[in-house]
Amino acid sequence: MTAQGKRPPLFGTNGIRGIPNEDLTVEFSMKIGAAAGTYFSQDTVAMGRDTRSTGPMIFNAVSSGIMAAGKNVLDLGVLPTPAVQYYCKTHAVPGVVITASHNPPQFNGIKCIASDGTELSRSEEEKIEDIYYESSFRYSGWGNAGNLIRVNDAIDIYLDGVMKHVDKDAIRAYGFRVAVDAGNGASYFSAPELLRRLGCTVVSLNAYPDGHFTSRNSEPKPENLMDLINVVRNGKFSLGIAHDGDADRAVFVDEKGNFIDGDTILSLIVSSVTKPGDRVVTPISSSDAIDEICRKNGAELIRTRVGAPIVSRTMIEMGARIGGEENGGIIYGPHQYCRDGAMTAGLVLNLMASRGERISELIKDVPEFHIHKLSVERKVPWEQISEFVRQYAGKARIETSDGLKIFFEDGWVLMRPSGTEPIIRIYGQSRTAKRAAELAEEYRSLVEGIQDGASAL
Ligand code: MG
Repeated sequence: MTAQGKRPPLFGTNGIRGIPNEDLTVEFSMKIGAAAGTYFSQDTVAMGRDTRSTGPMIFNAVSSGIMAAGKNVLDLGVLPTPAVQYYCKTHAVPGVVITASHNPPQFNGIKCIASDGTELSRSEEEKIEDIYYESSFRYSGWGNAGNLIRVNDAIDIYLDGVMKHVDKDAIRAYGFRVAVDAGNGASYFSAPELLRRLGCTVVSLNAYPDGHFTSRNSEPKPENLMDLINVVRNGKFSLGIAHDGDADRAVFVDEKGNFIDGDTILSLIVSSVTKPGDRVVTPISSSDAIDEICRKNGAELIRTRVGAPIVSRTMIEMGARIGGEENGGIIYGPHQYCRDGAMTAGLVLNLMASRGERISELIKDVPEFHIHKLSVERKVPWEQISEFVRQYAGKARIETSDGLKIFFEDGWVLMRPSGTEPIIRIYGQSRTAKRAAELAEEYRSLVEGIQDGASAL
């Protein structure tokens, strides 16, 4: 990451990511801190981090840069990304989170937050990149360097914020037994604590900070959640909950131990909170279930490109009440305009309590759709692949707002080149799991064939 030659963007779809002491060095991190400190107009910046073992190192480098630019740093400690965002929103200060979300333990990252709690827009990130590349840092005189101030109540403020949006007494009256898997990540304290405050009996798994993620992979996919699934299956639980590394997402296991995918939970929550005239925002990657629900509830559905910050910004622009992604990233506007794992858990418990039904019963009302996701290594430019795929798809309707979304009678395929890795993500969606997998596999073979053909030329 040098200023020589081209100026590649530093921020990806979810901040800056890299491996500390390799491509995410302390020198680089300090300069990003100085650039952010120069850019932010407020004199105070809130900072938090997840449990990664390189967190203190990168946190200190970034905070030094911010203080060198004359801004005070509020150290909120180890806490979920949405807890930092909520602090920023309620205190009208910008923020920086040191996290690599669900990435493997060797990674870390730097994510900048605006003073309304949302992720910075791309144009704001570009301004920070400009300061970095032009070295136009505004360092303070020695007498005006920023201070480091420890804040101890950010988690309390956050949990109080979440609990405002649920019927606490109704949830407490049920005394749910809940198993929660924090995956050694940023929610290790807040996730069980929220459940305790909601009167649940809590069995917590991997609820201690371990930046090596020795218990499980930090991506909350069913294959990484077998311990949680087995605990729920063998005990008498109402619900299982798991978060990703920085706890902006939540996924669930029903009382029988069946994994509930993020798309189903998104649809369930949308169906429970929308009224006629409401607006709902979701990317093109979530299933058609949400279209059916919005039609039934008289709500307007707005589809965006993939990426949580895009969904958040669109929700603000359109005045939407609810939005989110098919991976368990749910955004509840009345609380804050970002993905929030604890709020999602609260909404699910609230629904179980208000309807008096088991989670497995509640999801029966969600129209059944399946999404089969896979990825293929990208060996040739995307444009070349895209051209062939369009020819192959023939007369099928294709949408090109983000990659290619190809519609069929019984489903669709979405193909997108990753912005951060040389891979192509392929999603097949249909009413049956079998057909969703067939669609995704058909297009995987097609892409592999195109690439083999291209490399044989
Ligand atoms: Mg995350």
